[in-house]
Amino acid sequence: MKKRKLKTKIDEVPKLKFAVKSKGDQTSNQLQQRIKNYLRDFDLDYDEAEPDIVISVGGDGTLLHAFHHYQDRLAETAFVGVHTGHLGFYADWTPEEVEKLVIHIARTPFQIVEYPLLEVTVRYLNSSKENRYLALNECTVKSVEGSLVMNVEIKGDLFETFRGDGLCISTPSGSTAYNKALGGAIIHPALPSIQLSEMASINNRVFRTVGSPLVLPQHHTCLLRPVNDADFQITIDHLFLLQKDVKSIQYRVAEEKVRFARFRPFPFWKRVKESFVDDEY
Ligand code: NAP
Repeated sequence: MKKRKLKTKIDEVPKLKFAVKSKGDQTSNQLQQRIKNYLRDFDLDYDEAEPDIVISVGGDGTLLHAFHHYQDRLAETAFVGVHTGHLGFYADWTPEEVEKLVIHIARTPFQIVEYPLLEVTVRYLNSSKENRYLALNECTVKSVEGSLVMNVEIKGDLFETFRGDGLCISTPSGSTAYNKALGGAIIHPALPSIQLSEMASINNRVFRTVGSPLVLPQHHTCLLRPVNDADFQITIDHLFLLQKDVKSIQYRVAEEKVRFARFRPFPFWKRVKESFVDDEY
């Protein structure tokens, strides 16, 4: 009987695929190129279309752009941010640390930290169509002309009629951005929640709102129903959208999460302190 040679098949570990997104200024572009070269030297594959890890170079704004670019593959992609300006909440590696970061990416299996996202669903009058958006920071709603007037429903019950400049609904990681400028609380991203904050509400004998930011837990839905106008200016992070014939805008914590690659501890409260409290940063 002929003996068949046993062939040992060594499982091939798939190579990590990466992409590098730059803010577009000269410093960020040069750093982007350096990171690309370093990672290629480590034999990693550059893959703009289907990266396992996306390195954003610039600031938090750059990471917002990268997030929206890859929002259809959030389950497969992890993000890490390098800042070429000031320390960011998403962009927390300095240009001087880039060599260290590259070695970490190439050599060590990285830890993943997941942050909650905001799901926004816009429904329209005389139509069954709806548009769904995901925000990493927040969604803001303003009127196209004059004051914004909206009935605010929470979990299906009318909570208040808001009249004022606008409303901001943020994620925990977005709570340090626009929300903070509106007097909202800073929320730790381990809390799956959304925060509703007011922009200059009108409060007098006729109009009344709660006047405080509200933090809603997962599965508590907030619905905005227009009272008069049906056209609004909506922002989803850095994106501006003009929405016409709006029937309602629904907010809740999204099922999806954003994944950040963590190579060292940098606690959230330390980032808050270094960004807003300490002088030396
Ligand atoms: P931008 O007007 O060019 O920059 C807004 C600033 O917000 C930048 O300094 C940015 O940091 C910072 N930022 C972004 N995300 C943050 C976060 N999660 N925590 C703390 N700071 C954060 O606009 P952009 O770069 O396109 O970013 C859009 C964001 O701007 C929106 O999502 C909104 O949160 C924010 N915004 C804030 C205000 C306000 O505070 N009054 C008004 C409008 C919009 P980097 O410099 O590191 O990029």
